[in-house]
Formats: sequence, structure tokens, C-alpha cells
Amino acid sequence: MELIIILLLIIFIYYSIRYAWWTKTVDLSSPRILMYHMISEHKKGAKFNGLRVSPLEFEKQIKFLYDNNWTFLTMSELILNKDNLTDKSIAITFDDGYEDNYINALPILKKYNAKATIYLVVDRHDREWSSKRKKKNSNGELKREKKLSDNQVLELIDSGIIEIGSHTMTHDNLSTLSKKEKEKEIINSKLNIEKNFNIKCNSFCYPFGIYDDEDINIVKKTNYLNATTTKKGIDDIKNTNLFELKRITISGKDNLLAFKIKLKRGLRGISK
Ligand SMILES: [Zn+2]
Repeated sequence: MELIIILLLIIFIYYSIRYAWWTKTVDLSSPRILMYHMISEHKKGAKFNGLRVSPLEFEKQIKFLYDNNWTFLTMSELILNKDNLTDKSIAITFDDGYEDNYINALPILKKYNAKATIYLVVDRHDREWSSKRKKKNSNGELKREKKLSDNQVLELIDSGIIEIGSHTMTHDNLSTLSKKEKEKEIINSKLNIEKNFNIKCNSFCYPFGIYDDEDINIVKKTNYLNATTTKKGIDDIKNTNLFELKRITISGKDNLLAFKIKLKRGLRGISK
């Protein structure tokens, strides 16, 4: 008998930590910004499978949003309409510019007419950036992952449902750069994207979510309209700094229940 009570208690504590059931739903007038990286199958023994949401899981998530009448907006649309958003507004974002965004994500987004924003690293091919954050991350896994070609980017733009934002020139760690170097990363990437693809580049995303006041000022001065971070949660968009926007992290390890909980509260559990 006692054993059963102890067992039940352990299960209760496990689920409490995992799903933080006592936290409140954030008001649906606050738009959700989702953060994805790759839409692909997990790789056996890989370190970064958290960044890989399988196409099947991704479709379940987009279908859920579609079936429940969420309104999909690009980041620019979200910001430009921030005072007139309907309840259940959502921006889907992808960081880095992986080729699977074109191969696997685009067909699903098209199927549900779901808009999204892709933050492109301009100089993204054959580049090792995970070690810029932590030396021990330098196993080359993300470097080997194929990135979008310029032609694929053009097709994404042509689809009419994808906004291209900047994720800097080289995905460097801004905290390790001089002001001049930071400006190069932040300004040149915008200029390059605008010229190369003949579009406006209004939206920015800090590599690794690492930034300081100097970076924010450069982003503002460069005439971006908004910038996203990796801070987890949901902002009241009318009363928040548009250059430090929080996002909901969608992990490759989330099932649909975890996705729904994150959509309601910004986090699944206590910190994830
Ligand atoms: Zn990134």
C-alpha cells in the first residue's frame, strides 16, 4: 500500500515537472511566435535532434493550428498589424536556412496556407557555427546539414507565404565581436538579402539568442522592424520591446500534447 502511494507520488512529481500543470494559459490576444530549425527525421545518435522536428510531427502541428482557426502571419505582418491582431495570431519561424525548410516544410505550409518566416544566414554553406557558442559543440553536425540554395530561397519567396529575415552574415557569436564586426554581420546581411533576392528584409534574429544593448541599437539603426530572441515565452506584443521578442521553442522531442501546452503557456514545463 505504502509502495503504491510512493509510486503515485513519484509519477505525480514527474508529470508536474514535465508539464507544469499549474501555470496559466497566456491570453489568446497575445500572438505566439514559434521557433523551428530543421523539419527532418532524427539522425541516429545525433546531438542536435532537438532541432529536428519530423515532417509527420510538423504536419500534425500545422494541421492542429489550421483546424483550430489560428491566423498565420509573417513576422513583418505581425509587427505591422500588432495593434489590430485577431485572437489566435501566430508566426512560424525557422532559424539558419536549412534545405529541408524548402523540401519538407514548404509543401506542408502550402497545404494549410500557413505563412512563415525563415531567418537566413547569408554565408551559410560549409560553415561550422555551433562551436561559436560552446567549443565542445564543434562536431560538425550542423555544418554537414545542407542549407538552402539561393534558387530555393527564390522559390520560397515566390510561394507568397514565406518572408526572408536575416540571421547575420556568418552566424557568429555577437558577444565576441567588436562594434565594427557586429555592424558588418547585422547591416551587410540585410543589404545582401535585399539585393540578392530583390525583397525587403525587415526581420532579424540574434544568433544563439545572444545579444546586448549595443546589438539592439545596431539592429534598430539598420531599420529592421523587429528582432526575435531565444527567450522562451509569449509577449504582449502591444507592450513589449519589438527588438527582444520571445518565442516558443518547438523541439523535435515534443509530442502533440507538449505542443498544445506550449501553445497555451509558452513553455511546456518549468523551463522548457
Ligand atoms: Zn541560428
